[in-house]
Amino acid sequence: MADKIQMKTPLVEMDGDEMTRVLWKWIKEILLEPYIDLKTEYYDLGLEYRNETNDKVTYDSAEATKKYGVAVKCATITPNADRMTEYNLKEMWKSPNGTIRAILDGTVFRTPILVKGITPFIPTWTKPITIARHAYGDIYKNVEMKAETGGKAELVFTDKNGNETRQTIHEFSGDGIIQGVHNTDKSIASFARSCLNYGLDLKQDVWFATKDTISKTYDHRFKDIFNEIYETEYKDKFKEAGIEYFYTLIDDAVARVIRSSGGYIWACKNYDGDVMSDMIATAYGSLAMMTSVLVSPDGVYEYEAAHGTVQRHYYKYLKGEKTSTNSVATIFAWTGALRKRGELDNISALCDFANKLEQATIQTIEEGVMTGDLIAISSLENKKKVDSEEFLHEVNARLKALLN
Ligand code: NAP
Ligand code: MG
Repeated sequence: MADKIQMKTPLVEMDGDEMTRVLWKWIKEILLEPYIDLKTEYYDLGLEYRNETNDKVTYDSAEATKKYGVAVKCATITPNADRMTEYNLKEMWKSPNGTIRAILDGTVFRTPILVKGITPFIPTWTKPITIARHAYGDIYKNVEMKAETGGKAELVFTDKNGNETRQTIHEFSGDGIIQGVHNTDKSIASFARSCLNYGLDLKQDVWFATKDTISKTYDHRFKDIFNEIYETEYKDKFKEAGIEYFYTLIDDAVARVIRSSGGYIWACKNYDGDVMSDMIATAYGSLAMMTSVLVSPDGVYEYEAAHGTVQRHYYKYLKGEKTSTNSVATIFAWTGALRKRGELDNISALCDFANKLEQATIQTIEEGVMTGDLIAISSLENKKKVDSEEFLHEVNARLKALLN
């Protein structure tokens, strides 16, 4: 075999939990290490080690990502009451994704992986739609209460000098409800820059929508910040790349999305992104075929799969049974990270390898070899269900052919 591809800067490698941790090791052994002299800085984000280090390892891995610029992350358990006893935890540690996102101040982009034989529920969607969800504020940081027996609800803002601004929300004559939400210019601006940078990265149009006709101050501020940043920092770069920034009302956006053929980035406010990302994922077919990347406004990238640790399959695996777990999104997390590292370090062989590994993965499924979850939804006539490890060997056989 030819010499292995050499890397310059290490990737930040964040290992994880359960079935995805098993797949992680196999992907490295079967698909990466035979071809690449893999250079990573390893952080074990598996729950046991997070617990042992009082979650310090999660913070360290995020700091390393800031330092090196590119990370690849395995799915991890977000502890709940069951996990406290299962893993004998000292504390109910926070979601690693939440911690990392807070440190990198990033936006999450989710993109479906399209293959022949799996038709989206919207058949005109022949290209992927990438959803970007703003991950701060609005109803996710709300304050709400019941207004019982009637009365007056007011919105009061006290500025730094103690000056009050006051507005009546509503005079209740009976029972009702009220809610206060906020966002910050800083967070909205970060979100806008992440989306516009990612558009340039993918050479795809960026769509953004709010309800600014109704919410003339709140939603309008989102529209204005996006517009201002686009006009002053991105307009020329977009022109050069041959792409567009497009703003419309959220209801108009939904109608256009359904009629579109895909191939753009749809930037959504927090709640819209929560709802629309589930709609998009379902409509394209499967969460196991969805990639996810966190992009910070200063251009740091963390790649992962959108699904969880596939706990049910892991318990089967622990009993010694074969599972047919889909590794595609985790493979694409690695290829995304390797390609980005290749771009940043000018290693074209690494970019080429990443492209070919993706091609081999898609080719495997399009030739009818797939895991159980896809067998259930693929319309191919001749299809064969393989187990988790067999799938990786099938991909490797095709990868070898493509590399020769
Ligand atoms: P999950 O791991 O996404 O799996 C839910 C179900 O979806 C599975 O039982 C399986 O269905 C199917 N599925 C998901 N990914 C699959 C794959 N790659 N191949 C085949 N089938 C797949 O969600 P969960 O079981 O609700 O959560 C398990 C753990 O993951 C939780 O502790 C949660 O905290 C964590 N989680 C982590 C992340 C992250 O790190 N980004 C995201 C979400 C959840 P069948 O059982 O029917 O085969
Ligand atoms: Mg949701």
